[in-house]
Amino acid sequence: MAKNYQTHRFFCIKCGKEGIPLARKQGHKHERFHRKKLYCPYCKIEINHVECQTDEDVYNFRVDFEEGVFADEIEESLAHVGASRLGKIDVGEIANR
Ligand SMILES: [Zn+2]
Repeated sequence: MAKNYQTHRFFCIKCGKEGIPLARKQGHKHERFHRKKLYCPYCKIEINHVECQTDEDVYNFRVDFEEGVFADEIEESLAHVGASRLGKIDVGEIANR
């Protein structure tokens, strides 16, 4: 058993389903609800996932997801994947990185 590792769960912001878990070294701290771009097997695209470390995080994610908190982020995330929008990259998009 790799006891120094903790499995973190990742949830797709688009469909809300659980993605592929990753083992993280313990003590490796991110801010809560860290985003990571992962491939979602349900949406079949690469999109931001929310990292959850505890059951409470998972619960909070589900509440936020139900309330549509991630709607803007989904659009933004997809904008980078879709066809390049010629001349449409504005200052706001760069500032958000
Ligand atoms: Zn998904």
